[in-house]
Amino acid sequence: IEVEEFDLIVFGASGDLAHRKLLPALYHRDADGQMPPNARIICSARSDYTGDDYRKYAKAALEEHVTDLDDEHLAQFLKRISYVKIDVKSGEGFEGLKTVLDERPDVIRAFYLAVGPDLFGTISENLGKIGVVNDHSRVVMEKPIGKDGASARALNDTVGAVFNEHQIFRIDHYLGKETVQNLMALRFANALFEPLWNAAHIDHVQITVAESLGVGGRAGYYDTAGALRDMVQNHILQLLCLVAMEPPESMNADSVRDEKLKVLKALAPIDEQTADKLTVRGQYRAGASSGGAVPGYLEELGNEDSRTETFVAVKAEIANWRWAGVPFYLRTGKRLAQRVSEIVVQFRPIPHSIFDAEAGVITANRLIIRLQPDEGVQMQVMIKDPGPGGMRLRQVPLDMSFADAFKVRNPDAYERLIMDVIRGNQTLFMRRDEVDAAWAWIDPIQAAWVASKETPKGYTAGTWGPSASIALVERDGRTWAEDDGT
Ligand code: NAP
Repeated sequence: IEVEEFDLIVFGASGDLAHRKLLPALYHRDADGQMPPNARIICSARSDYTGDDYRKYAKAALEEHVTDLDDEHLAQFLKRISYVKIDVKSGEGFEGLKTVLDERPDVIRAFYLAVGPDLFGTISENLGKIGVVNDHSRVVMEKPIGKDGASARALNDTVGAVFNEHQIFRIDHYLGKETVQNLMALRFANALFEPLWNAAHIDHVQITVAESLGVGGRAGYYDTAGALRDMVQNHILQLLCLVAMEPPESMNADSVRDEKLKVLKALAPIDEQTADKLTVRGQYRAGASSGGAVPGYLEELGNEDSRTETFVAVKAEIANWRWAGVPFYLRTGKRLAQRVSEIVVQFRPIPHSIFDAEAGVITANRLIIRLQPDEGVQMQVMIKDPGPGGMRLRQVPLDMSFADAFKVRNPDAYERLIMDVIRGNQTLFMRRDEVDAAWAWIDPIQAAWVASKETPKGYTAGTWGPSASIALVERDGRTWAEDDGT
């Protein structure tokens, strides 16, 4: 698809996100011939780089993070990059940026805020003040969008005073993942699933985002957030929306986002009365990960009093006709047994078996949508064991491992999302009312925890979280997917 000429301005160009994700993603798009001939990437931070210094920095980042780096493409890509030193807080350097941008007033201008959220407002205000925000401008905001509903509203107000909502791209990179897109293809490009996609046929849904790493160097930031606000408010609720939403009338951004919003609004509230029963908070203690001993969260943080959760499990319910009575078990955590993100859609068992005991156990169908580490979709079905030996049944996975099936490089989520920004396609970005609705569900849970005398339950690093998380699903006669041998 043809992309119009653009200037992409990256604030925070010397940071971790730019280094690991944005520069490699932009390189790939360029190498794949997806950039217009004169596209410019204007990088910015406080660090004292000359243009050449920064290009060296960018080259080193690409050498580290791109496996199939090609010299010719690299040279072409680096030519697009320039550097403008700006201290966002003092405002020093913005005029320099204006001079560069004024060279091309008519091209698309995308401002990517790869900086801490405390700078989003200041940057927007400064861009407004120097007069570089025009009809062709867009702004990309990274998470977190606030730490609660009130701070999110304040932030959205400040940025909204400079950019219109149709110019604001709140990025959730989970939505750019191939498998997540495929979830939409699966649901809405096949006649097979949608008739079964409801409480009559689905027993429950599990969404797991498990990390094996601890908080490491991010302990300071993490302690002010915790798993609920860092992961559930955005990534996990977004995944839940895509699983649960009604078919939108088209892939048009507002059609999709209207349907997601309805799901968020239908989430049954969890408050002080119910939080104990429906949520589990955990904090990792010392244990073992990847074969080595690792310290506990409090030791890493250097603060024994922290009640911040590094694990959360929630039993969520969507109070509408399609999903009434179908639990959505959500969980995420650090220092868990495995790095895995997946959605498990567990269908109901067959109503009656015609097979005798020798056939074996008939396991209910299950659709597994795996986001990482190996993206793919698997449908678990029962078949007859091949051979003449009677009717024995066996569960087999119908596998669609993308890398194997299509023999293509699996593009990183950022590759797609950055180009969607340039194209002005907001389908995979969160609209302001979605952010508000997500916080409106999260805030009372957080408040209930603050009011509670309980501290997070300890779990040993390298396990699947506190035993209370297992109890949360076992109370309902169910198990987490990894506990039943699949
Ligand atoms: P980071 O490594 O701490 O980088 C922050 C960047 O901001 C640096 O380039 C820093 O450059 C710049 N900066 C800080 N103060 C500044 C100022 N006063 N004026 C101008 N520039 C300033 O952070 P990050 O990990 O890249 O994260 C950036 C954003 O993305 C955050 O909102 C984060 O929550 C979000 N995010 C990151 C990841 C990730 O994987 N890293 C994932 C999801 C979301 P100088 O010091 O040179 O000024």
